[in-house]
Amino acid sequence: MLGRGVLSRLHTLTQQETFTLTLYLDIDQNKQANRKRGFVVQAEALLKDLRATHGPDRRLAEANRRALALVKKLRPNGKSALVVVNTAAKLAELIEIGLPFAASAHWRKGAFLRPVVEAVDEHENYGVVLTSTQRARLFIAHMGEITEHEDLISDTTARSKALGTDQWRSQGRRERRHEEEVALHAKRVIDALHELALRQPFDRLIVAGTKKATAQLVRLLPRRLQGKLVRTLTMPVTASKKEVLQGILKLQQRMEREQETLLIEGLEAELHDGGKAVAGFAPVLDAINQGRVWKLLYDKKLKIKGGECGDCGSYTPETKGPCPYCGGKVKAAAQTLDRLSQTVFEMAGQVEVVDGPAANRLVKHGSIAALLRY
Ligand SMILES: [Zn+2]
Repeated sequence: MLGRGVLSRLHTLTQQETFTLTLYLDIDQNKQANRKRGFVVQAEALLKDLRATHGPDRRLAEANRRALALVKKLRPNGKSALVVVNTAAKLAELIEIGLPFAASAHWRKGAFLRPVVEAVDEHENYGVVLTSTQRARLFIAHMGEITEHEDLISDTTARSKALGTDQWRSQGRRERRHEEEVALHAKRVIDALHELALRQPFDRLIVAGTKKATAQLVRLLPRRLQGKLVRTLTMPVTASKKEVLQGILKLQQRMEREQETLLIEGLEAELHDGGKAVAGFAPVLDAINQGRVWKLLYDKKLKIKGGECGDCGSYTPETKGPCPYCGGKVKAAAQTLDRLSQTVFEMAGQVEVVDGPAANRLVKHGSIAALLRY
C-alpha cells in the first residue's frame, strides 16, 4: 500500500547529488496492450527514449537495467507501477498502485513524485465501518484499494417477536433489552475501531450500514473519532467489498469537488489589489519566481508552454528571447506545468489540479492561479 510514509522515504533517499530514475508504468491487466507482459515492452520503450534524450550515461544505463529487472519480475495486480532507482543510494523499488497514472520516465535529481503525491493528497486513508445492529465489518480504503480487517457479530436479540396475548406485558422489557444490546454492539464496534486505528491509522471515517445501527454508532462515537467522521452511508451490511469501495469513491469525488469550489471562492476573495492571490499565466510565473506561491491551482485540461532562463532559472511566459530578470537567454521549458509544480513543491508549496465546476470557474482567471504566502 502506498502512503505518505513510503513517499517521504523515497523523497529523502533520493535527495542526493546523483540522479534518480523514476518510472511510471501502466500495468492495468484489463487493457489488452498490457497483457502478455505488454508492460515490459512499454518500460523498454520509455527507457530507450530516456537514453536518447540524455545521451550515453553509465549511471543511467545501470539504473535502467535495475528498473527493467524489477519490471520483468512483476506479477501485476494494480493499475500502475512506480519504479524508483538510485544506485548510489542503493535504492531500487517497484510499488504497485491501485490508481491509473500516465506512463512516463524521468532522470533527474530527486525522484519525480509529484503525480503520486497529488494522488495521495486527494486520497486519504479512510476507515470504514459497515454495520447493522448485529454485525459490523471494518475496512481501510486508500487510493482505490480496500482491505477488510474485521467482521464481528454480536448476539443482539430481535426487537420484537410476534406477540401472544399474554406476552404484551413483556414487550416493553424486550424493547429495552434490545436497545441495550444495540448500544453494546455499538460499543464493541468502537473498541474494534480503536484497535484498527492503532494497527492502521486513518484520517477520515465513514460509517455505513443500516439507518438504525449507523445512527446509534455515530451517537456513541468518542470525540476523536467524531472529528474524523465525514459522512454516513446507508448500505446493507452484506454489501460486497466492491460495492463498499464504489460508495466511498463516489463520496470522495463529491467531497473533492466541494473542496475545490471552496478553494476557488477563497481565491476570488483575494484577487484584488494587495490581495494574497494572483491569476493568469504571467502573474503566476512571476509569483513562482519570487518564491511567494503557497498553493498553485490549475485546470486539469490546461496545456501551456513557457520558457526558462538558462542563467538565473526564472520562468517566463515567452519560450525565447532575453530574460526579463537578468537578460540571460531563455529556452523553452519542456513539460512546463510539471516543472512549475516541481518548483512549487520544492518551496514547500502545494499544487491543486482542479476539475469539474471549479475548473470551469477558473477559466475566467486564465485556468491557472496561485494563492500567495505574502
Ligand atoms: Zn534570467
